[in-house]
Amino acid sequence: MKIGQLFINNALVDAKNSFKHINPNNNEEFATVAKANEEEVNLAVEAASKAFIHWSNMTIKERASIIQKAADILIEMYGEEGQETELKLLISNEVGKRLPEADIEVIESSDMIAYYAENAEKLLSDRELSLNQELWASKKSIVKHIPIGVIGVIKAWNYPLEIPIWTLAPALIAGNTIVFKPSEYSSFVGLEIGEIFKKAGLPDGVLNIITGDGKTGEYLVKNKTIRMIDFTGSVETGRKIAIECANSLKKYNLELGGNDAAIVCDDANLELTANGLVWGSFCNSGQVCVGIKRVFIDKKIKDILIDKVLDKTSSLIPTQDYGPIISEEQITNIESFINDAVNKGAKILTGGKRIDKQSGLYFQPTVLTNITKDMKIMKEECFGPLLPIVFVDNIEEAIAMANDSNYGLGASIWTSNIEKGLELSNEIQSGMVWINDVNVAFPEAPWGGIKNSGIGIALSDQAIYEYIEYKHISIEQSEEQRRIWWYPYS
Ligand code: NDP
Repeated sequence: MKIGQLFINNALVDAKNSFKHINPNNNEEFATVAKANEEEVNLAVEAASKAFIHWSNMTIKERASIIQKAADILIEMYGEEGQETELKLLISNEVGKRLPEADIEVIESSDMIAYYAENAEKLLSDRELSLNQELWASKKSIVKHIPIGVIGVIKAWNYPLEIPIWTLAPALIAGNTIVFKPSEYSSFVGLEIGEIFKKAGLPDGVLNIITGDGKTGEYLVKNKTIRMIDFTGSVETGRKIAIECANSLKKYNLELGGNDAAIVCDDANLELTANGLVWGSFCNSGQVCVGIKRVFIDKKIKDILIDKVLDKTSSLIPTQDYGPIISEEQITNIESFINDAVNKGAKILTGGKRIDKQSGLYFQPTVLTNITKDMKIMKEECFGPLLPIVFVDNIEEAIAMANDSNYGLGASIWTSNIEKGLELSNEIQSGMVWINDVNVAFPEAPWGGIKNSGIGIALSDQAIYEYIEYKHISIEQSEEQRRIWWYPYS
């Protein structure tokens, strides 16, 4: 069994307290996880604060070259597609991902680091502004991008490598130092990230990892030296963090939950759409922020599409095609969504139950119809393998129902007519829209939600500016002894 420690100043150190983590694949004890108390969190922040002076004074190029090495190390740890390397097995054992899911997570993480390492200098170098020459001919203005300081990073468990990496890479290259708290369900992948950056040559204290539970996260948010919190997780926790950050006037970036709609037009390629709906809903057992969580299908194609979806869903094999649910608590939560829907008239077409014969925390991929808008499943995010399907008379009705949500993370449109897909994408209230695909992230493209799904952005050139402050330097170049707007006024 693994015994966890904290990672402070590039070294593993014992914590006073701990808790047990269960391997969701077999319901057996996987590890003892170190649980950082307030004093230990503060020690990590102190280490990051000391490291800031040296790290922030290095050039962007020097920092980027260290960060790039982490991408190279990840490529080595990836091995080949389908190869069970130590890192992929760790991801699988700790959070239950299938090998293809771990594969893509590792390779995308490397790609994201490399993107920022390659582009940081261009994005962060000083910029000279072109001022209005009629008014300001003798002035010169320079904008500098300076690091914020020590950033607290708090992340969800469901992409335990990729989601931390997409913050750490730009934030570190920008010159910040970091204290990172992984989810209590993904502490060891979190610690592994520390080891990867250490191997890459990151100086002591630049990245510190404190494992623990929600309380550990609270200590981090409350710490007065921390200047920003970067958070990925539920709306509920995000709101608590925003309130705390407001109290201490910290900056924050929040990537929150979603209740993504898939809109299926009557001209959709039905084979492609059925494959997309099934994967989009059930990969990682539905525990995906941008998983398909509500489906709106034009009535004209419903029978043939439903048959295909049911066919493909029933062919999924537990342990091979989908992994376990992360915790017992989460299984109970999924059951509460199903019970609420069924009590209000929903019909289960397939699934609906926990899989008893597996010793792990498995739940059947579940397809439901007769869905009405008063059901919890339409209003709140269910982090589990549920595919509720609504039949609509036309696309306008689908868009209206899709937008009837407090969330606005992602959405997908399924149509053979790309022009129509583009037009519909303008109507959908979400931060991301995939046409004929779902749940793909690119380092070049912004990732984030609107409405309750988040404040701020991840990935893309824009995201690196989340982790900097702007400093404006104004230079007067004339030889005059006074400016014309100074005294005397007469
Ligand atoms: P939670 O909000 O429960 O937890 C997220 C992180 O916050 C964890 O590290 C957690 O620690 C920590 N935390 C919990 N309470 C507090 C607190 N009071 N103060 C500070 N930190 C705290 O989310 P989940 O881990 O369950 O992740 C699932 C959610 O994340 C879903 O809503 C999903 O949609 C969303 N998500 C959003 C993404 C996006 O890109 N928009 C991407 C991935 C997920 P601990 O786990 O130890 O309790």
